[in-house]
Amino acid sequence: MPPLFLFVGYGGVKMAGEQEERDRVINWDPELRNMPREVRNVIAPTPLQGTDRMQFRCHPGIACFNECCRNIEILLTPYDLLRLRRRLQLSAEDFLFQYATLYTMSKGQLPVAMLRMDEETGRCPFVTEEGCSVYSDRPVTCRYYPLGMALLHRQKAAEDESFYFLIKEDFCLGHREACHWQVDAWRQDQGSDGYDERNQQWMEFIIKRRSAGDGVSTSLPVSEFFYMASTNPDKFREFVFQSSFLQRYQVAEEQLERLRGDDEALIDFALSWLKSVLFGDQDVRVKPEAFASYKASKKAKASE
Ligand code: SF4
Ligand code: SF4
Repeated sequence: MPPLFLFVGYGGVKMAGEQEERDRVINWDPELRNMPREVRNVIAPTPLQGTDRMQFRCHPGIACFNECCRNIEILLTPYDLLRLRRRLQLSAEDFLFQYATLYTMSKGQLPVAMLRMDEETGRCPFVTEEGCSVYSDRPVTCRYYPLGMALLHRQKAAEDESFYFLIKEDFCLGHREACHWQVDAWRQDQGSDGYDERNQQWMEFIIKRRSAGDGVSTSLPVSEFFYMASTNPDKFREFVFQSSFLQRYQVAEEQLERLRGDDEALIDFALSWLKSVLFGDQDVRVKPEAFASYKASKKAKASE
């Protein structure tokens, strides 16, 4: 399974296509160009839409069973992390310590968590002889496989563009099985739909940050807050409720109530706040009195 790319939601591939056409696709994004050639070579240049068809079947009796669960890079989205650690009944810190490594994306410099493979065998920590031990809570990349999902931001376009692509690796025999799917039906069958909705804000933030390049600056350690929001909602909750945050930002009472106990709502709120700070979005606003006091102290400093 190839790495997960974030211009690009969930990694993906297909073997066909002329080299020239494949290179054109790879040139979309430096993250793709940096991939090892053997990974690049399984990327197909043909974007798929939800109504397109694919041939695939995976089942425990297949000769390659579990082959795809080693030597892979699986990026963990915030919702992947929530589902996995609830399943394993672990705190965010304990899950990250045991199962994750940190990866910083080359463009945008945002840190993300990757599932840590066994150093000696290269196997996923959750794979067993019988298959995936966390199957109903497996990460979205595993749900999508052998599909990838891409979210592409074009300059001046009002909305991001999304499409799918097929991953066709030599060891995976599922492509030879006589079973046909519509892309949307496959996603639904694998339970990817709910994950996409949950991950939408997070993916959009990454794309926006990466598209902005070095042109945005802030005194805030955005990367740290982004990682905290993505991987450890409890810690972000502490920041909201135990720092001067609520003296500075307007948050409605009923939203505050939700943020106290709902991790998904907290992650969305954290990303909205980061978008407001970084890009000037207006989802989370500074309180007028906090803004006035900030202006007054700046003025006082200037006149010193
Ligand atoms: S068919 Fe492909 S996805 Fe299924 S077990 Fe084999 S390698 Fe993995
Ligand atoms: S989480 Fe499950 S499906 Fe995904 S790589 Fe690990 S064992 Fe395989």
